[in-house]
Amino acid sequence: MPAALAREPARRSPLMQDKEVSARRFASGRRVTSIIAKMREIAKIDRTVADEVRRSLVETLFASSTSLGVGAIAGAACSTAIALSSGNPWLTAMAVAIDMTGALRVAHAVFLHRVGARNSAESARSETVYEIGAWAYAFLLGLMTFLTLILSDNSLYHMLAAVLTIGYAAGICGRNAGRPVIAMGQLALASAPVSLGLFLSDNPLRWVLGFVNCAFIIGMVDITLQTYSAVLKAMSATHEQKRLTARFEKLARYDAMTGLENRGAFQERLQTELAELAERKGQLAILWVDLDKFKEINDSLGHPTGDRVLRTVSRQLAAIADRRGCVARFGGDEFVLLARGDKKGFAEELAREVMRALLVPIEIDTASIQVTGSIGVAVAPDHGTDGETLLQHADMALYHAKANGRNDFCLFQPSMEEEFLELRALETALRTAIERDELEVYYQPIVDLATGRTKSCEALLRWHHPEFGSVPPSRFIPLAESTGLITPISHWVLGQACTAAAAWPEQVSVAVNMSPALLKDLHLSHMILSALYTSGLQARRLELEITESVLLEENAQSNSLIREFQKIGLKLSIDDFGTGYSSLTYLKKYAFDKIKIDTTFIADVTRSREARAIINALVGLAAELEIEIVAEGIETETQLGYVTGARCTSAQGFYLGRPMPEPEIRARLEAEWGRPRKPRAVPTAVTETAKVRRLRA
Ligand code: C2E
Ligand code: MG
Ligand code: MG
Repeated sequence: MPAALAREPARRSPLMQDKEVSARRFASGRRVTSIIAKMREIAKIDRTVADEVRRSLVETLFASSTSLGVGAIAGAACSTAIALSSGNPWLTAMAVAIDMTGALRVAHAVFLHRVGARNSAESARSETVYEIGAWAYAFLLGLMTFLTLILSDNSLYHMLAAVLTIGYAAGICGRNAGRPVIAMGQLALASAPVSLGLFLSDNPLRWVLGFVNCAFIIGMVDITLQTYSAVLKAMSATHEQKRLTARFEKLARYDAMTGLENRGAFQERLQTELAELAERKGQLAILWVDLDKFKEINDSLGHPTGDRVLRTVSRQLAAIADRRGCVARFGGDEFVLLARGDKKGFAEELAREVMRALLVPIEIDTASIQVTGSIGVAVAPDHGTDGETLLQHADMALYHAKANGRNDFCLFQPSMEEEFLELRALETALRTAIERDELEVYYQPIVDLATGRTKSCEALLRWHHPEFGSVPPSRFIPLAESTGLITPISHWVLGQACTAAAAWPEQVSVAVNMSPALLKDLHLSHMILSALYTSGLQARRLELEITESVLLEENAQSNSLIREFQKIGLKLSIDDFGTGYSSLTYLKKYAFDKIKIDTTFIADVTRSREARAIINALVGLAAELEIEIVAEGIETETQLGYVTGARCTSAQGFYLGRPMPEPEIRARLEAEWGRPRKPRAVPTAVTETAKVRRLRA
């Protein structure tokens, strides 16, 4: 069988042929409907695109002025050639219109491409101008081709005009796909007159070309829509990426809760300000603001209220810094304000302004919250010319403002740096002392005034440093508290004291000072239990001395710890009573076993009537509550005579015995009470409850 015949399709019935024709019609009908649906959908999407994306899409119209120029030159060349060769006045008029419109469009695009649209309104205006120009130009080309087809018989003119217009229409679909309405309008306005001109001819071949051109229009609309959705997707993705990048940059630079800059961003800004300061004369103030007792607001009124307070304070500080600097949140309740100034004393004036602003009560729901702040101030260039030094100096000044009783500001002084360095050296030495076991516990007797015998001994830390000499606890205990070293130190003291007391006569207890900082540590009770357990000392022989400041803070954690100690059977003393607020409510709230009257009252007992009155009142109160009362700091016989007469139950002081090393105190106790029986053996493994039961025994 010949190959041509083999490829010939089998003969089909007229019915089948009809079906195929209608299927094809149906398919092309469906194609048109799907294009219309796509156009609708794209028109809907186009209305909802982000402003920035729309602006970028409009920009694509002006992105290539070269292609616009090439189009204008091609249009001008073809239309002018046809007009000049044909000499037809209509075609000449068309050529002039095409040349002028093309030139105007190129001028507009070149101008806008250089300047660009600054906002959405300008972008919309440019789009409209472009649209009018594009549609006018496309229509002129279409019309020129139509007139060439109608008015001239020259096939070469026809070809020139038709090729120009169809080629232009095809090119425009890709070029202007970013704004599909413009592209499709141009396509229709340029191509429809061409097809119409071809249909009006009496040559069937031209009708075919007319049909083909119509089919082209459908295909090109589809291409335009496809290109548009691809461009839109890419632009939206770029826009989203830009938006996310900006958001992450913001998150990295700003504090989410207050909206203020964070430490990192502030440090960058400080560098810039310092570089500018080096160029001009003037000063730069750094104010490190720390809200006083903010933790209490958080604990008592809840974190949401605390957050609102922080936001209000941020706004107040931002208003103060406005136009002369900036403010940042350094975390928690700490803010740092930076301000430019040139007058002498402007930094102090600024600090006063901040304090006045903080004084205004913050109204939250029904509560009126009063906050105060401590402020450390450092000024460039006097206190430093680099950011790190300035911040460090402001921080040192803040430390002093807090140490001076808070709610005040403090200007950096060079002596603070010396003190700071000294403290750091002391801290290093203290760490080494802990590691090398260089600390020592001394014991001071507390004497029962009725019997004259020692009833308990207070454990007092001693530190003799090879270089610094004897460092008093009043110096290294606060340092240990602020650096967290108080935990290992207290652990060690407890162990030493319990072990020592376990070897003393049974009638004598040991008193250990508990730092307020430690009473927030939930591991404290575990630490105490393990000291008691390891030493074998009964809980009733261990006294904990706590100062009023612990009770003042009204911390839930400290409260529950105090209750827990009482459950275990430990004795509790309130130390240095009379130096703080001496609120009697604490005495009622916690069943204290002892009140220790502060040394200052005893020292004044001979010369101050008030001191005597206070001692008498406290003795009366203790008798009423049936608790012991100890007079601290007895240095003379007169003082001892007075407190005995005033009916204090016990006394402690150099007159009765100085703090002494363990062997000395043991010898004294054994002389008073006799040698104790052999200490009990400590069981090796028992449960926690069994431990407690045994300790209480
Ligand atoms: P405190 O608990 O009130 O201890 C009594 C202080 O008064 C001791 O000072 C003691 O030496 C001193 N003292 C005793 N009798 C007299 C006297 O007749 N005249 C004078 N002028 N002073 C007398 P020290 O040992 O210097 O301790 C000072 C403070 O350091 C203690 O005051 C206590 O708050 C703290 N401290 C001492 N050891 C420890 C410790 O192991 N842990 C903690 N957290 N604090 C401790
Ligand atoms: Mg004490
Ligand atoms: Mg005391």
